[in-house]
Amino acid sequence: MKTINVNIVTPDGPVYESDVEMVSTKAASGELGILPGHIPMVAPLQIGAVRLKNGGKTDLVAVSGGFIEVKPEKVTILAQSAEQSEEIDVERAKGAKLRAEERLHQQKRENIDFRRAELALQRAMNRINVSERHF
Ligand code: ATP
Repeated sequence: MKTINVNIVTPDGPVYESDVEMVSTKAASGELGILPGHIPMVAPLQIGAVRLKNGGKTDLVAVSGGFIEVKPEKVTILAQSAEQSEEIDVERAKGAKLRAEERLHQQKRENIDFRRAELALQRAMNRINVSERHF
């Protein structure tokens, strides 16, 4: 089986490196599936999961936006933050989700940053879903 080398890196350092058979994730323009030999491209990513298939197993990484760069034999994902599913602290993500929900509810009464709270909520829900492997 042909493979493609994948690196997921953040400002804090590398998070994931492996040779895999297929990479799939959500680009800003929609679902993206990449096999070895894919044409070169660069695309912005949404807050979401990166699924990495190899043999019988699929690794899951939660990413918070960023960019994907594809070359025929190499995929590089540059993300603001990224965590492998087994490294996610679910209690922390649940706490972040609650805080974001409270801020969104307060929004009607106070002039708070709605978009910022909405993105924090998306990051928290994505981490919870990835850690529970809901992808
Ligand atoms: P929090 O309010 O819990 O800090 P956040 O969405 O604001 O959540 P980020 O700014 O996206 O956090 O991330 C800051 C750093 O903490 C990053 O290195 C990220 O990988 C890590 N991180 C955030 N939440 C979790 C989590 N639930 N489990 C593991 N690492 C996390």
